Amino acid sequence: MINTQLHYSSFIEQLYKNSGHEIQSFLLSIYGFKKKLDFYSLNNQTALRILQRNYLHSKDLKDKFHFLFLRKLLNHVYKTVPYYKELFVNANIFPSDIKSLEDLNKIPILTKEQVRKKGTILKSSKFQTFSPKNYFTGGTTGKPLSFTIDNRNLILRSAEKYRHWLRNGYNFGDKMVVLRGMVIDYNHYSKKPWRFDYFQNTLYLSSYHMNSENLDSYIELLSEFKPDFLQAYPSTIFILARYMNEKKIKLSIKTIFTGSETLYAHYRYEIEKAFSCKVVDHYGHGEPGTWASGQCQCGNYILSEDLSIFEVVDKSGNEIRSGKGYLIETSLHNYSMPFIRYKTGDVVEITESKCQCGIQFKKVDKIIGREGDNLKINDKEVSGSMLLNQVLKKNKGIIEMQIKQVKDDELFLSIVPSNDYDSSVGKRLKEQIRKRIGQSINIEITEVQEIPTSPSGKKKYILNQIK
Ligand SMILES: [Zn+2]
Repeated sequence: MINTQLHYSSFIEQLYKNSGHEIQSFLLSIYGFKKKLDFYSLNNQTALRILQRNYLHSKDLKDKFHFLFLRKLLNHVYKTVPYYKELFVNANIFPSDIKSLEDLNKIPILTKEQVRKKGTILKSSKFQTFSPKNYFTGGTTGKPLSFTIDNRNLILRSAEKYRHWLRNGYNFGDKMVVLRGMVIDYNHYSKKPWRFDYFQNTLYLSSYHMNSENLDSYIELLSEFKPDFLQAYPSTIFILARYMNEKKIKLSIKTIFTGSETLYAHYRYEIEKAFSCKVVDHYGHGEPGTWASGQCQCGNYILSEDLSIFEVVDKSGNEIRSGKGYLIETSLHNYSMPFIRYKTGDVVEITESKCQCGIQFKKVDKIIGREGDNLKINDKEVSGSMLLNQVLKKNKGIIEMQIKQVKDDELFLSIVPSNDYDSSVGKRLKEQIRKRIGQSINIEITEVQEIPTSPSGKKKYILNQIK
C-alpha cells in the first residue's frame, strides 16, 4: 500500500518535472482540486466543526476528554505496541495505574533518539487497521526521524490547520500566495519561477529562485495578483520585506501566515511594515502531535489540547507551570505509531494565566527555539535564537546572520550585509555578543552573499557543531 503511494507520487513528480510551465500549472490545479474535494468532504467538515467547537470547552470538560482519550490510548499501546508493553512491564505500570491526568508522568519521556532506535517496535501490531502514511522529518538537524500518521489523524491535522486559518478570516478559495519550500520550478535559471493553482486560487512562488536580482519581479507579481493571504517561511518573506522597506515599496495583504521556523521579533517588524498587515504565526511539527497551534488575537500560541496533552518540563523532567522549559507532547489520536510523552525538542516559555481572548486551552507565550539551537559557551547554555534576536534588533546593516559554533570559546558569524553595512557594525556586534556571553569569546565575522537553505527550503541560523 505504502509502496504504491510512493511510486504514484514519484510518477507525478517525474511528470511534473518534465512538463512545461502551463502543464505544471495544470498539474498543480489538479492537486488543488483534490484539496478542494478534501476541504468540502464530510470528514473534513465534521472534524473542522468539532475542532472549532472544542475551543469553547471549559477546563473541566477538556480534562475529562483528555482522561478518556488517554485511557483508551494506554490500553491500546499496552495490548499492541511492543515498545510500551516492555516499558510498562519493566516499570511495573499497568494502564489501570493511570488514575488521573497527573499520573501520566509515571510514564518515562520518549526522546527522538529512542524513536530512531526503537522505531519498529513503536509500531502497533494492528498498524494496518489505521491506514497510516509514512513520513520523516529532521532535514535541518541532519538526523532524519521516520514515523507514521494514521489516516484519521491526517484529517484532524488538516482540520487543525483550517481552524487556524478560518479564525483569521480565511475562506477556502480566497486569493493566497505560497512562498515556502515547495519545488515548483526545476530550472534554476527560470525567468518565471511561479505557478498557479486554479482550484485553490493560489499562486505558488519558488523560494529557491528568490535572489537579489529578481526580487523586483516577485514584488511585481504580488502587486498584480493582489493576494488577500500569504503563507511563507519567516526567513523567506523577511528577505522580501526587508528589500521592500529599503526601497520604500508597500503592498497590502490582509494576513500573512508563517510557520515551520522561528519567527524572530525583527522579522515580524519588517514583514508587518512592508505589507501593512498582521503576521500570524503557528507552532507545529511533522511528528505525531500538533500541526498548527496558531497564535490567537493576543499573540499567544494556543496549543491544540484537543489533539494532544502538553506538558512543559525542566531539565530534570519536572513539570513547570511558569517560565522556560521543554515541550513534551502526547498525541492522543495516532494509533499506528503512538508517541507518548514525546520530547519535541522545542523550548517554550509559558505563564500560568489563561489567555485574555477566553480560550481555555494551554497557551505558550513564546517559542524560544529548538534544543539544538543552543550554544554552549564555557559550560553554560545560551539560547542561540535569543542571542540572534537581541543583537540583530540593535544593528542596522545586516540582512541575515548565521551563528556557528565549533569550539567552546569561538563563534563564526556569517553575515549577509545590506548597503548600510560597514566595519563599525561588525565591531559593535562583537561587543554586544561578548557583553552577553563572555568577554573572552573569540568571534570571527565573514561576509557572505546568502545563508544556505536546507533541502526543505528552510534556513538554519544557529549551528552548534561542538562534538
Ligand atoms: Zn488569546
